[in-house]
Parts: sequence; structure tokens; C-alpha cells
Amino acid sequence: MSKEYTQPEITEILHHMGEHSLPENAVAPPIFQSSIFCFESFEAFQEALKNESEHYIYSRGNNPTVNLCEEKIAALEHTERAKLVSSGVAAISCAIMAYMKQGDHAICIRSSYDWTGYIFHTYLKRFGVDVTFVDGNTVEEFEQAIRPNTRVIYLESPATFTFTLQPLRQIAELAKKHNIKTIIDNTWATPIFQNPADLGIDLVVHSASKYFGGNSDVVAGVICGSNEDITHIFRTEFLPMGPVPDPFMAWLILRNLRTLHLRMPVHYRNALGLAEFLEARDDVECVNYPLLPSFPQYELAKEQMRGGSGLFSFRLKTRDRQKVKDITNHVRFFKLAVSWGGYESLFDPSLLKYTDDEEAPDDRISLIRVHAGLEELELLKDDLAQALDSVK
Ligand SMILES: *Cc1c(COP(=O)(O)O)cnc(C)c1O
Repeated sequence: MSKEYTQPEITEILHHMGEHSLPENAVAPPIFQSSIFCFESFEAFQEALKNESEHYIYSRGNNPTVNLCEEKIAALEHTERAKLVSSGVAAISCAIMAYMKQGDHAICIRSSYDWTGYIFHTYLKRFGVDVTFVDGNTVEEFEQAIRPNTRVIYLESPATFTFTLQPLRQIAELAKKHNIKTIIDNTWATPIFQNPADLGIDLVVHSASKYFGGNSDVVAGVICGSNEDITHIFRTEFLPMGPVPDPFMAWLILRNLRTLHLRMPVHYRNALGLAEFLEARDDVECVNYPLLPSFPQYELAKEQMRGGSGLFSFRLKTRDRQKVKDITNHVRFFKLAVSWGGYESLFDPSLLKYTDDEEAPDDRISLIRVHAGLEELELLKDDLAQALDSVK
């Protein structure tokens, strides 16, 4: 079981760390809207240029507002360091590309986030990188897929479409034996509920557009890892590719992080409440939420995570496309939108991906992804009930 957080530790990180001597005793950290930083002497200037990742020189590299945000996220993830970038996909692609070269091999879970899948299926092909895809439920699948040139194992646990988990501690041990870098997308659980670095995973990436931002008003990403790994990524991918986080975006994340530990338990309670409510209905075929006792990997979920976030999916028994459309048009308090992780509840049917004359896989026709926001649970339950009842 990962280490439990104590309230003082979290408050210390989110409310105090790095904020003891702000200019003019300001309570909110200032936004350093400056592209360049100057030096007092030739010597100081030259010293900084020798090691850009440790100094404020130019805001494509480091910026004080951005660095304060990075320091807090690294502390939350129990890693030495973090690098904020302009989006979740920038975090994912920088972390992957920093450890891949022509002729290498990677192992990736089959049900990763769409654009992660694109990188492994399509983008890396251009560089002659071979990829083996695995379901990833057992460590043996990874063991069998390893080749002498395997450099990266990519994980997403829970995966945000199937909600399946990978046994992180075992995979980390296996990878270390073979000198393979492990990368995990931890967007779903957040460091409030899961710390993959404590289980031995090397790099933890996030879409900060989800719970770190928490208000559906920011697009950002972050990579967490050892000082050595983050410095390597900084030099080989971040500086040349330029996915720069701007200071205002970092400031918005700093502001919203202050309530992360208060928001996550509410998302958890609402998601679990809705999942249980849906599971008990006779028009629902299944509910995919790792913290639901009926979930096939429930025990592993309890072992690796301290709780769950707001995103889950459920499948209706019907395969009638019109009913799925009608239900979607009947929800009132769930917004119809992509993404997730904000204060608001969302409703996102898989059927959207298929036009009327297009065939959809049987398990996708009536699969619906829900984000449980911060609203009253009873309000959300009542809303789903009236929408589902409307097609009875
Ligand atoms: C949204 C998301 C991403 C991509 O993040 P962006 O900030 O949209 O670039 C990556 N992984 C997961 C699991 C996501 O949900």
C-alpha cells in the first residue's frame, strides 16, 4: 500500500512550500511575466549558461512561477523534480521520445489514451521503433514482450477508457532488472490517490488539464521523475521542441492545486455513489469503476491506490442507438463535452465516434463515459434516473 498522506504534509506542500518570502509579503505568488532574466556580472552570466536547467535565463527554459508549480507537483508525486509543459500530450511525447531512438523497441498498454496510442502506433514508426501492445493486466505479459532492445514500458493505470489496472510494483521490478524506463500516465488517480514513484515507476506524467487545473480553464501537462531524468528530458526534448508552459497557466494551476486534496474525495464519493446506483439498475449491463467491489481488479486497485477519481464508464443493456441518443439528450446536469477533471459532471457516449451508417463494435454502442463532478450526489443520481427512465 502506498504511503498515506497526512493532512499537514499536504497543507505544507500546497499552501506553504516555496511561499515563505514572497515580494511585499504577498499571499498569492506573483506571476513572473518576463521572457528573460538578467545577471550582475560576466561570471554569473557564464555560470548560468553552463547549466540552463538550474537557472533563470530565458522563459522557454525556466520561469519562477512555473518552477514553484513544478516544485509542489514533484513533492505531491514523491519525485525529486517535475517539469511543467504546455499540454498532457506534450508531457507524454517528451517523456517517451527522450528515451527512444532508431531501432529501439517499446511496450505499451493497448488501452492507452488516444494520442498516446497514436505516438506508439504511428509516430514512432517513422523512426523505426517497434512496439508491442499488451493488455497489461499481468506482469507476465510484459516479461514475454521484452526484447534485448526494449527501452520503454508505457503504462496508464487505471486506463481512462477500460479502467483496467497494471500491477505497478511488479512491472517496475521487472523493468529495473532489464534497464528499461517505465513511464505511467497518472492523470486518473492524481497523487492524492496514487504515487507510482513509491512503487518504483521512473516517470509519472499528467494531463494537468484535468484535476490539477480542476476548473476546465487550463490546458497543461507535467512530467515528474528523478533529477537526472528530468534534466535529460529538459535538454533533449523540452528545450529543442519548446512545449513552454506560460507563467499565467502555471499560476492558475498553483491556485487550483490549493484545493486538490479537498476536491478529490468529493469526486470519489460522487463517482462511487453513481457507480453503485447504476450497477443496481436492471437496464445497465456493467459499470467500470476500479473502486467498485465488483470490478475484476478491485483488490489490486485497493493495494495500489488510496481512492478513486470521478471518471468511469457504464454500458446499457440495450443496443438501440436511438435510445442512447435520447438518453444523452435528456440529461440536464451533465454537460455534453470531452475531457474531464473539472468541477462539473460530464456525459460522453462512445457512440459519438460512429455515424449512423458506420458499424460500431457491440461493446461500444451503448458504452457511456461519465465524469462525476462536485455537485450534490442526489441531484446527479436523480438526473441519470430521469434520463434512463425516459426511454423505458
Ligand atoms: C486528457 C488526457 C491526456 C492529454 O492531455 P492534454 O492536456 O489534453 O494534452 C493524456 N492522458 C489522459 C489519461 C488524459 O485524460
